[in-house]
Amino acid sequence: MADDLIVVGGGQAAASVVAGVRARGDQRPITLITDEPDPPYQRPPLSKRYLLGAVPASRLLLRPLEWYRDNGIVLRLGERAAGIDRAQRMVRLASGELLAYGSLVLATGATPRTLPAAIGGDLDGVHTLRSRADADALGRELKSGRDLVVIGGGYIGLEVAASATGAGVRVVVVEMAERILQRVAAAETSDYFRNLHTGRGVAVHESTGLTRLIGNEGRVQAAELSDGTVLGADLVVVGIGVRPNDDLAQAAGLATDDGILVDGACRTSDPSILAAGDCARFPRGRGHIRLESVQNASDQARAAAGTLCGDEITYDPVPWFWSDQFDVKLKIAGYSAGHDMVATRPGRRDGACSVWYYRDGTLIAVDSMNDAASHTMARRLIAAGASPPPEQVRDPACDLKSLVPAGA
Ligand code: FAD
Repeated sequence: MADDLIVVGGGQAAASVVAGVRARGDQRPITLITDEPDPPYQRPPLSKRYLLGAVPASRLLLRPLEWYRDNGIVLRLGERAAGIDRAQRMVRLASGELLAYGSLVLATGATPRTLPAAIGGDLDGVHTLRSRADADALGRELKSGRDLVVIGGGYIGLEVAASATGAGVRVVVVEMAERILQRVAAAETSDYFRNLHTGRGVAVHESTGLTRLIGNEGRVQAAELSDGTVLGADLVVVGIGVRPNDDLAQAAGLATDDGILVDGACRTSDPSILAAGDCARFPRGRGHIRLESVQNASDQARAAAGTLCGDEITYDPVPWFWSDQFDVKLKIAGYSAGHDMVATRPGRRDGACSVWYYRDGTLIAVDSMNDAASHTMARRLIAAGASPPPEQVRDPACDLKSLVPAGA
């Protein structure tokens, strides 16, 4: 009806938008539609402790089931939104059922890219990792002594490599680019993580593509690489990035461009439809960016909730992200794309350090490895628009706190 809010998606962004609306005391009817069987849950543990069976499924839930009931939020679990009729303001479910909305939020997330069947992408034992079901399927296969080939040296691939090594699995990471993490980090950070992984027994092949996966009776058996190497593989994890789920928006005639285009208030090209999280591309500087992180999904969805409740919102975050690999916690503050200089700062603990990214002399991002203090200071500095000179950053004796402007 005129008031009703429908949220399509069952991840971090969907959970944050409904919580944000209720936190503002807004009691409009809300329906959350997700094609997964679970209410919204955390994905980060799926490649970390949950994958190893160290966290029960119930601990993944962002909010208990009763919370939705107590807050008058109707959950439509295991249901897929198949179409949007913008003229009638209706969402059509795959079952054919029509639901009327006053406002609609698309929080549809992203889908892992897969390998073509022509090179063995459809063989048994080849996994991607996005959902709890994916983690359950992969976790069942991680048995000590088996050989795992990870295609793609990004965060998901490296986290799986670390977790699997912990489970006694032999792991090889294959990265087509010159170095692991090339798309998201400076060479200094890539070097840090390559050393970490190789030091723990993971083999890392860089500048090496996958030619094909070789199967036996429908199950993967080996991976042939572009340099001719053939690696034995009991299982394969494909971590080659994601594709934003913007098809629903595109079919409804909303503006998309590798993600659903939104303005600073999270509105799509139809002002009664908002989008947030991994599926949304929002304004930043002179362009638009799309982020894949818990921080962005939560904060952008909270911003969307503000817009729905009539607040004037401009979503302009200092992004942050974390990744756990072996005993190293990486924390990233800011957005390093477009950097032209980096400075490395040794941390206090053994193996701790941080990599500081500058563009035209302005500090834009910091990767901190086992260095929470640098991360905290980096977030404050970036938020304040302060750019400490690289010479000071490199000097471990320089107290970062002294560089934060008063009041920031
Ligand atoms: P999602 O969490 O993808 O949720 C989208 C939901 O919508 C899904 O449930 C999907 O099934 C559903 N859906 C899509 N289309 C429809 C439809 N048409 N109808 C009904 N339902 C639909 N980020 C970090 O910051 N730190 C980490 O350490 C980290 N680790 C990660 C580890 C893994 C294994 C993964 C997969 C992600 C990780 N991330 C991490 C990223 C982070 O989890 C995501 O950025 C975040 O979950 C995005 O939330 P979202 O709500 O936008 O999308």
